[in-house]
Amino acid sequence: MWKVEVNEKLCKKCGICSSLCPAKVFTNEVNELPMYTHQEKCTGCNLCVLRCPDIALTLTGGKK
Ligand code: SF4
Ligand code: SF4
Repeated sequence: MWKVEVNEKLCKKCGICSSLCPAKVFTNEVNELPMYTHQEKCTGCNLCVLRCPDIALTLTGGKK
């Protein structure tokens, strides 16, 4: 299973990852840390990692 981890020290809580995720994995709002709530829906597309302006996200794992 894919897993996205948030570096809380780097994240500026901009909400970009939550708004762009095609699978609606995150449930945070702007000004909140991203909540990786629906992990089972993550497709590992890597979009959130690439678009995070603060390089705060890391994607690990894979399909099982
Ligand atoms: S895109 Fe990056 S900086 Fe913005 S909320 Fe998501 S993890 Fe934090
Ligand atoms: S890797 Fe893709 S599907 Fe998974 S949380 Fe990031 S944007 Fe969403």
